[in-house]
Amino acid sequence: MTAMLPAPLILVGESWRPAQGGQSIGVINPSDGEEFTRIARGAAADIDAAVHAARAALDGAWGRLPAVERGRLLTRLAYAVQDHHADLARLEAMDTGKPLKQAKADITALARYFEYYGGAADKVHGETLPYLDGYTVMTFYEPFGVTGHIIPWNYPAQILGRTLAAALAMGNAAVVKPAEDACLTVLKVGELALGVGFPPGAINIVTGYGEEAGAALAAHPGFDHISFTGSPDTGALVQAAAARNNKPVTMELGGKSPQLVFADADIDAALPFLVGAIVQNAGQTCSAGSRLLVEAKVYDDVLSRVAGRFSSLQVGSSDMDLDCGPVINRSQKQRVEGFLDRAKKDGFAPRAQGRIAPNTPPGGYYVAPTLVADVPPLHELAQDEVFGPVLAATRFKDDAEALAFANGTAYGLVAGVWTRDGGRQHRFAKGLKSGQVFVNNFGAGGGVELPFGGVRRSGFGREKGFEALYSFSALKTVAVRHG
Ligand code: NAD
Repeated sequence: MTAMLPAPLILVGESWRPAQGGQSIGVINPSDGEEFTRIARGAAADIDAAVHAARAALDGAWGRLPAVERGRLLTRLAYAVQDHHADLARLEAMDTGKPLKQAKADITALARYFEYYGGAADKVHGETLPYLDGYTVMTFYEPFGVTGHIIPWNYPAQILGRTLAAALAMGNAAVVKPAEDACLTVLKVGELALGVGFPPGAINIVTGYGEEAGAALAAHPGFDHISFTGSPDTGALVQAAAARNNKPVTMELGGKSPQLVFADADIDAALPFLVGAIVQNAGQTCSAGSRLLVEAKVYDDVLSRVAGRFSSLQVGSSDMDLDCGPVINRSQKQRVEGFLDRAKKDGFAPRAQGRIAPNTPPGGYYVAPTLVADVPPLHELAQDEVFGPVLAATRFKDDAEALAFANGTAYGLVAGVWTRDGGRQHRFAKGLKSGQVFVNNFGAGGGVELPFGGVRRSGFGREKGFEALYSFSALKTVAVRHG
C-alpha cells in the first residue's frame, strides 16, 4: 500500500518538488480517522511557478503539437489509467472513504474521459460563413491558453478526468488545484501523464488548502480560464477573484436534485434509483437525488418500499465494500447530523435508517443512510444541500404541484421523472429548471458523453460530452477580403 502513495510533492513543469513553503498537510482516511500520508501545502508562490510552467509549455512543445498528437497522448493516458486501475481504485477508496466498488467505477470513468477526449481532440472545427461579396469568413476554435482547475474531494479522479481531459484536448495547458481532503489519485495521474509523454508544463498540479492555493489560483492574473467544481459559496469567491482579472469561469456547483414519482410509474424499476441516487458516495454527490417527490395516490406504498430498502442498507469502511462508506471528515459528519437533529426537533424523525456494520473501525466518520418522510417543501431538509445520505420525501397532489415543488429550490442541476405518460414526460423535461433531466432513469450526472452543468445556484457552463470542448476554447472569426 505504501509503495503506491504519492510523495508530498507538487508537479510544476517537468519536476516534482516540495511546496516552496516547505510544509505539508496530513491526509486522513475517513474510514478510520487516522492520518496515513501527507501532501504538500502549496501556496501562492507555487501557483505562480505552475502558471509560468504552463505558459512555457504553450510557447514550447505542447503548444506546437497538432490536435491528432494531443489526442494520442490522451488515449495513451487512458490506457495507462486502465493498466493501474486496481492501485488507483484502492488509493481513491482509502483517500475518500468510498466503497471499493464505487472507487473502481470512478477509475473506469477517469480512463473513459481520457479515451473520449483523446478521440475528440482532432474533431473540433469551425465553419465558413456567408458574408459580403468578396469576403471569405471562417471560424476557429482555439485554446484559451492557461486553464486553472479547482476540484472537490467527493470524486477527485472522475472530476479531474472530466475537466482536465477536455481542456488538454483543445490544447490548453493546465494547473490543477485538487482538494486538500482527497487528492492522491490526482497526483498519480500526473505521474502517469509524464510517463506516457505529455510535455512538461502541459499538466501542473499544486496541492494545498483552498484558502491558500485555491484562492491564489483564482486571483492569479496569468490564467485565461478557470473551471471550478465545488460549493456555491466558494464558487462565488472564485468568481469574484477571477472577475478582478476579467477571466472567464465555469462553475459546477451544488444541487438539491428531485426525483418525481407519479402513480403510473414502474415503481419496481424506479426503486433502485430512488435509493441508489442518494446512497451513492454517502450522498456526497453534487447530483445526488436528495429529494423524493411522490404522487399522493402512491405515496404510502412507495415510501414503505423505499423505507424497506433503507433499513437493509449497510455502512462500513471502504475495504468492507458495503452499500455506503463514511462521509469525508468529522465536520461533514457533524453537519449531516445537525440537519437530522434539527429535523427531528421540527417533528420529522427518521422514517428508516440503514445500519453501521459491526467491526466498522471506531474512528471513522459514519452516518447511517436516513429516509425522512413528509418533509414540507420549504423545510431546510428539502431546500439545502446536506451532502450526506439523507433522503427527504414529500407528497404532491397533481402535476402542477409536482413541478412547483421540483423547481422550488435555489438549485437546478439534475432531475428525475418517473412516469409512463409520454406527454407528461415531455412536459416535465421542458418545465424542470435543471441542467439535466432523466426520464425513467437517474444518472447522477450521466455518462461521459452527456453534457453536464447547472442552472441557477447550481452554476453555469458545461462540462462532459462534446460540449466541453467548446467550453474550453475561444472562438475566433477571420474575415478575408479578397476583392
Ligand atoms: P468546496 O467549495 O469547499 O471546495 C472545492 C475546492 O475549492 C477545493 O479544492 C477547495 O480546496 C477549493 N477552495 C476552498 N476555498 C477556496 C477559496 N477561497 N478559493 C479557491 N478555492 C477554494 O467544496 P467541497 O466541499 O470540496 O465539495 C462539495 C461541493 O461541491 C458540494 O456543494 C457539491 O455539490 C459540489 N460539487 C459540484 C459538482 C458539479 O459538477 N456540479 C461536482 C462535485 C461537487
